[in-house]
Amino acid sequence: MAVLSWPVNKLQNKCYPWWVYARRTEIQCITSEYQYMENTTKDHETYQSLFDAVSEGIILHDSGVIVDVNRSSLTLLGIHQQKKIEVIGISLLHILAKESHKTAIDIIDRSGKEPDLIIGPVDLVVKKTDGSYVDIEIFMKPHIHKERNIHMVSARDITERKRTEASLRKSEEKYRELLDNANDMVITIDLKGNITSVNKMGEKITGYNVEDIIGKNVSCLLNPSHLKKARKMIEYKIKGEAKTVYDLEIISKDGHVTPSEISSNLMFQSGQPVGVQAFVRDITERNKMLDKLRKMSFKDGLTKLANRRHFDETLNHEWKRAKRESHPLSIILIDIDSFKSYNDTYGHQEGDACLKNISRIIKPYAKRPGDLAARYGGEEFALILPCADSYNAIKIAEKIRKRVQALKITHDGSKVNDCKTISISAGISTMAPGTDLSQSLLFNQADKALYSAKNQGRNQVRFSA
Ligand code: GH3
Ligand code: MG
Ligand code: MG
Repeated sequence: MAVLSWPVNKLQNKCYPWWVYARRTEIQCITSEYQYMENTTKDHETYQSLFDAVSEGIILHDSGVIVDVNRSSLTLLGIHQQKKIEVIGISLLHILAKESHKTAIDIIDRSGKEPDLIIGPVDLVVKKTDGSYVDIEIFMKPHIHKERNIHMVSARDITERKRTEASLRKSEEKYRELLDNANDMVITIDLKGNITSVNKMGEKITGYNVEDIIGKNVSCLLNPSHLKKARKMIEYKIKGEAKTVYDLEIISKDGHVTPSEISSNLMFQSGQPVGVQAFVRDITERNKMLDKLRKMSFKDGLTKLANRRHFDETLNHEWKRAKRESHPLSIILIDIDSFKSYNDTYGHQEGDACLKNISRIIKPYAKRPGDLAARYGGEEFALILPCADSYNAIKIAEKIRKRVQALKITHDGSKVNDCKTISISAGISTMAPGTDLSQSLLFNQADKALYSAKNQGRNQVRFSA
């Protein structure tokens, strides 16, 4: 199977979000500076004031027993600055919520086994002296304090971040809910075309479960002949193309084809394109409607024969084909005799019924590919008969005339001699299209023949070459 690969450098896969790297570097700097400060500052007071000036909470501990804390730590713990002595010598577990004890024991154990290890970020919960809880994020690294190998913990209040994360999660859930209730399929892919997410409607259209589809290449969902178009769509998007809609076919797991309208957005991370989000709308019903409308625009409402527009287009097309393939082309123009007086005598409704009856007689004579039966005007019909020579065209027209007469629709006001039933007149023309001829000439000749049939007394067939 062809695999879509988009022409953009992919973002590096990361194990941690960017801020973890940033924080680690920051912590390294703070603690290294502090270690340097401690190593070099002989004056205890200067050292203490610098220690307290650090905005991070710093706790020095020896195998979990607190050795020293700075001002920021006391603030974090809700302990008055003058009561610092109360925390010196106690276990770290005393200042942590119960739920964080296991994690704390684990990391203290680990740091004991691997003395050079820098641990973090680790999220813990601190229990303040007033009984409230604070979420903190810590990093822990080895530290030399008064010639003892101990550990330094730097802690930061992350209540705000946790709150933001929770509200982000909530809005993500809401977004997910919205997506899942959407009537469109929403799918995201990375720049290699691998699917990274799909909503409920996507499962319905593709026939795959989310778990099965994630990681598959989007090419497995597309009509193979549309792959090039899909790639172009992404390329243009990357080049900054405004929102555009493309029609593509989605192929489901069991091979069902869904004609779809696809609009897409490029997704960015740190300013770099990382994928595409596409909104896929099932346009099966829309296409059916359009098809119906298109067919309707070519049909006469009363008789369901082709209308004049369809007749003109077909004549144009068949004329060219006859010229290309060097075969004759015949047309028959049919006009109901004395139809005005029929309407006047029997009313418009009867007139309509008569038009329908006659159209039923004409229709079956357009039986070969390329043949067309049309209602050309009010009570005028036309037949296009590619490959029919004049002999055959005259034969067909004569059959129609006789069958109309055989209907025996009473028409007392008919101008046709000795005929008190509905009749038709027909004009025929046949041409083998050449350079000196045109389709309008063919039509005019048939019209001339019809005029002649009328002049000669109606209820007859005339031919004009
Ligand atoms: P001729 O034999 O010379 O063709 O005479 P005619 O009366 O048939 O010709 P004319 O062109 O004078 O009249 C055509 C009539 O066709 C006029 C109109 O009443 C009728 N007609 C046209 N369209 C419709 C239609 O949709 N329904 C009905 N009932 N009558 C129509
Ligand atoms: Mg007429
Ligand atoms: Mg008429």
